[in-house]
Amino acid sequence: MGNQVILISNEDMKKVMNHYATSKITRNAPGVIFAAKISDTAITAYKSGKVLFQGAGADREAARWGPLTAAKKTTTTSKGDKLPANFAELSVVGSDETGTGDFFGPVTVAACYVRADQIELVRELGVKDSKQLTDDLMRKIAPDLQATLIHSVLTLGNVKYNEIQEQGNSQGKIKALLHNQALKHVLRKMNGEKPDYILIDQFAERGVYYNYLKLEPEIIRENVLLSTKAEGLHLSVAAASIIARVAFLEEMDRLSTFAGVTLPKGAGPRVDEVAARILLKSGAESLKNMTKWHFANARKAQQIANKKRM
Ligand code: MN
Repeated sequence: MGNQVILISNEDMKKVMNHYATSKITRNAPGVIFAAKISDTAITAYKSGKVLFQGAGADREAARWGPLTAAKKTTTTSKGDKLPANFAELSVVGSDETGTGDFFGPVTVAACYVRADQIELVRELGVKDSKQLTDDLMRKIAPDLQATLIHSVLTLGNVKYNEIQEQGNSQGKIKALLHNQALKHVLRKMNGEKPDYILIDQFAERGVYYNYLKLEPEIIRENVLLSTKAEGLHLSVAAASIIARVAFLEEMDRLSTFAGVTLPKGAGPRVDEVAARILLKSGAESLKNMTKWHFANARKAQQIANKKRM
């Protein structure tokens, strides 16, 4: 099946809409201003001026309106499994996590499925490498993604996180369990449909990852690839990363309201200061319940609080 995207002027957009007017169909996807279906090609026009042609006649139809776009070159310095050359165009379930480096707030993991024929739509919704997106932009994009894509998002709150951590589980193991869980949920929701691949944004070597999972009743192994910087390798990981990030931000909002102060991200000196204030105001138990208590920040906050008490 062919797939072509062209970018055209407003004027040409009118011509496109005229040309396919008799084959017009209704499509209520975000950003779509016009859609049509002819015998061998689906045409979707977007607010941004992009027009997507899908189907056997995609090249022919797209060529009426503009030069065909050359396949984008990807330069990547990711490490991990070797991916097939056309990987970015395949149907992939991707997974990623957020919050593991933040003293305050949960760990969140999301997995989501982007089918080959959804790639252009997902891009149109504004998904790109999440490292290039601001939190505010991600908050805007995430609801559309969640409405459009089969996904699973898990938020491991601080109380549970600390409990599991104190039982002797490393953060790596916690992440592995959550990724496996989220992937399981997505595959279940896919009702037997199989992705070409599953891609996990890599945080551990393959052997280490599966060793973390060895006691799990169900371990997702089939067609699983692991790579670092995976959000740049397939939009499913970029989308998962955005969904996970926004789940993290939402829990941070909730905790901030509860604490009466905007909780800072990360694990730097500002985090220690805010943590010390919460400690003095509400006590250690209260602080523990909104943080990853094994981080060094907990001890630093206690030191700062002790000084202030004197
Ligand atoms: Mn990641």
